[in-house]
Amino acid sequence: MKQKEVLIVGTGLAGLASALRLTAAGYSVTMVEKNNQPGGRLNLLEKDGFKFDLGPTFFSMSYEFDELVKSTGIEYPFDFIELDPLFTVNIDGNPKNYTIYKDIEKLASQFEKIEPNFRGKMEHHLKKTGTLYHDTEDKIVHHNFNSFAEYAGQLVRVPLKHSPLLLKTMWQELCGSFESKEARMIFSLVGFFLGATPFDTPAVYSLLNYIELKHDGYHNVRGGMYEIVNGLVKILQQKGVKIHYSTEIVQAETQDKKINALIDQFGNQWKADYYIINSDAAWFRGKVFNRKKYNEKRLDKMKWTMAPLTIYLGLNGKLDKLQHHNYFLGNNFDQYAKGVFKNKVSFEKPYYYVNVQSKNNPEYAPEGKESLFILCPSPDLRFKPDWSDSEEIAQNIIDDLSTRTGYPINEMIISKTVLTPVHWGKMFNLYKGNGLGLAHDMNQIGWFRPHNQDEKFKNVFYTGASTIPGTGLPMAVISSKLTTEKLFKYDGNLQTK
Ligand SMILES: Cc1cc2nc3c(=O)[nH]c(=O)nc-3n(C[C@H](O)[C@H](O)[C@H](O)COP(=O)(O)OP(=O)(O)OC[C@H]3O[C@@H](n4cnc5c(N)ncnc54)[C@H](O)[C@@H]3O)c2cc1C
Repeated sequence: MKQKEVLIVGTGLAGLASALRLTAAGYSVTMVEKNNQPGGRLNLLEKDGFKFDLGPTFFSMSYEFDELVKSTGIEYPFDFIELDPLFTVNIDGNPKNYTIYKDIEKLASQFEKIEPNFRGKMEHHLKKTGTLYHDTEDKIVHHNFNSFAEYAGQLVRVPLKHSPLLLKTMWQELCGSFESKEARMIFSLVGFFLGATPFDTPAVYSLLNYIELKHDGYHNVRGGMYEIVNGLVKILQQKGVKIHYSTEIVQAETQDKKINALIDQFGNQWKADYYIINSDAAWFRGKVFNRKKYNEKRLDKMKWTMAPLTIYLGLNGKLDKLQHHNYFLGNNFDQYAKGVFKNKVSFEKPYYYVNVQSKNNPEYAPEGKESLFILCPSPDLRFKPDWSDSEEIAQNIIDDLSTRTGYPINEMIISKTVLTPVHWGKMFNLYKGNGLGLAHDMNQIGWFRPHNQDEKFKNVFYTGASTIPGTGLPMAVISSKLTTEKLFKYDGNLQTK
């Protein structure tokens, strides 16, 4: 029997993982990618003798990669190391640098002066969020939905005791768990990993604290995050998958309720039995399929995640006092977090995250030098279309970092690159420069997220951050599983689930 052909649009992690699952199930796979190298947001910048992870700097839920490897029968394509400590937090004006450990004794010692019975409170928080996680991971996170009734049916199977979490924000939940503003702030930072703030992230996502502080921790990849992409691409090439770079899908040729071909920017036709779209699931429906529900006006009304302002610095000298992950926060958390994504705060003193990339991967910088990544969560182009002040904002951050760490960063800079939401939007077709896809409000998750099979063209499927289950590297891997399972089922491929 002729092998069925699948075209995958995009080589982000969800696209690569889907390709792997499809080849393992006997499909013939071709991929097209608008950029000249694979990986999407999980990418690598090489400049002036330094290397930088472009976006992701760590991952959690390593068991999702284990599942991918096991179910496709491949050798582990990369090697990862658990980070200890997880991260540090510096709050402006507070002389203490908080170091966040997985080890509860060490963690409690950080808060003993400001949060009475921290250990008991944290254990309670982790037990509550851990139970929620294990009660929902199979019923919701790893589940494909074919109808609203099926989604509602799955929600009903989640024990009732978790329902108060559906009605609260992450911030409200943390205020119930901890008394000190420091503990509340620090353990609400996981909201930012979802690209939102704890004030608008549903409390159910507090389960990320359990995943990171107890269940699985944080992991960095030996040789750098891009080794994930290098490893997967190498295996795909061995399996005969062809990847065509600098090829952007801009149009579709339709016939009845199917796509007949996708058309690239040069007018070339790309034909297959099935199409998997790894480009943003909402943006692509609007831009390429001209779907009214996803036109600019409608997309503007949806909730999107933060937009990244990222700075990549090659430094002459080492920053030994800093850990791998470091957060630098101000002392007006409520006001800042509530206003930042709507461009209602000043960028004179932004909040930012610093990753010392050469700490775990010395090959990222020449000897005696340091490779530094800074991420400043910012408003997207709906709220701040003009980024002509990006150098100024970057300078504010660099000056603040120098003051707070005592390192003369300005004098150490050998290499500097600043990427704004405008760049991020153009590079990966991210709607108005948002970095992590659609937000995770209750009305944009599960059945309410753009579905992973097209509503009209039944031979078109979607995988990645803006379809189910959501954003982040482990979610991209789960997304590839859900999407390919849906395709297999539609194709009548009974050897697979
Ligand atoms: C600054 C930043 C930091 C982050 N840090 C972390 C982190 O530390 N840990 C973590 O787990 N997650 C992190 N994330 C989130 C993570 O990067 C994403 O959730 C994940 O990489 C998304 O993968 P994806 O496959 O869904 O999409 P993408 O990586 O966006 O891949 C989609 C691909 O499709 C291509 N494409 C788009 N349109 C077309 C078209 N029309 N034709 C052809 N090709 C097209 C794009 O070029 C891209 O290569 C971060 C994100 C950002 C922006």
